[in-house]
Amino acid sequence: MKFDELGLSAGIQQAFADAGYLTPTPVQSKTIPLVLQGKDVMVAAQTGTGKTASFVAPMLDLLSTSARRRSNQINALILVPTRELAIQVHQSIRDYAINSELRSAVVYGGVKINPQMMTLRGGVHLLVATPGRLLDLHQQNAVKFDQLSLLVLDEADRMLSLGFAHEMSQLLRILPSKRQTLLFSATLSTQVKTLAAQILKNPAEITLSPERIAAVKIDQWLAPVDKKRKTALLLALLAKKSGKQALVFVNTKNAADVLAKNLTKAGHSIAVIHGDKSQAVRLRNLNEFKTGKSQLLIGTDVASRGLDISNLPLVVNFDLPKVAEDYVHRIGRTGRASKTGEAISLVSADDYEKLRNIEQLLQELIRRESVAGFEPITTVPESQGVPSPRKPKKPKKPKKPKKSATNPSNTHNPGESPR
Ligand code: AMP
Repeated sequence: MKFDELGLSAGIQQAFADAGYLTPTPVQSKTIPLVLQGKDVMVAAQTGTGKTASFVAPMLDLLSTSARRRSNQINALILVPTRELAIQVHQSIRDYAINSELRSAVVYGGVKINPQMMTLRGGVHLLVATPGRLLDLHQQNAVKFDQLSLLVLDEADRMLSLGFAHEMSQLLRILPSKRQTLLFSATLSTQVKTLAAQILKNPAEITLSPERIAAVKIDQWLAPVDKKRKTALLLALLAKKSGKQALVFVNTKNAADVLAKNLTKAGHSIAVIHGDKSQAVRLRNLNEFKTGKSQLLIGTDVASRGLDISNLPLVVNFDLPKVAEDYVHRIGRTGRASKTGEAISLVSADDYEKLRNIEQLLQELIRRESVAGFEPITTVPESQGVPSPRKPKKPKKPKKPKKSATNPSNTHNPGESPR
């Protein structure tokens, strides 16, 4: 399917072309026409599938024909669970609305409320918000919902798991009931379906093929290491993986080139993609990797967005991404097509902040495994306030007959982490 078959305006199609999108992703092909028809939808799709464009693009088209801007009013609301996602969705709106007059804004907690109140004063067409801050703004009359015709719940399952159920039901009581509602969730759990039943009207249900639902099958872990030993550690890990193909992420074009040089010297076949390479070179290098001519693909985030490489067994974060959400995009490149995948991050002490942001976003500590001979001299501190990783449950040993009364200190099952 092509973008011009979906019913989108020329302005949006141009914005997609400028972003380098060649064809719609499956979630876009299925969702966009339904949203343009004014239908409610419930979509099972996770980060990395192109889901953001699947709601932002048709919303922009629907609003451009109907929405008028009035003070403190909003026409469309996108509710998201985290500040990181809010920023990312707002950036996508900016990218896709480049040829439109529509005004958008983003609000989230943890920062001053006054600038957000100022932004909302003139009214905005699309507002991206986390639930708590939006309620605060509403209570202070900084945002009004009388003109609202479109509502999106993005990552509804995370919204529930992060404990926003109460805020969401408060909000849903205030929002106009005559509206179009779109719900996106990585999983359509019973809890999400119960929520959907309350807020959607005759929704079309869209579920992507299992190959798109990847993250659960990815074994992610991190190896603490001193910064200057990362290349040596990568080589040691690759030797253990005996010829497995891997996608290696770095943060800068220069780092990609330097690493490529070092790994080539060590005898690996390398393809590189980054923003300085022309589209033709990127495609050629990607093709070399896909056809198995190169064992390793080294890339930066910009160049690696939207890559669809099936059968990729291993992703390595040589550098941790600066934006926590990119971690999810990166590791989503493995574990596709019902295969299991592995994502290894090489983490040095100066990556601490990035690691903490990622673990806060995931709401889980990433499992640490030191590699023998590469234990760091400078340790990487553990992120505070994040739940421990889930440990695989060990099979229970047969119980020994008890000699005395149970001692409570012995009743802890080592397979269960306190949560
Ligand atoms: P999302 O699932 O919305 O977080 O998007 C994942 C990534 O895919 C983002 O970096 C988008 O820029 C990119 N993307 C979205 N739609 C397309 C497309 N049709 N072709 C290529 N990349 C896309």
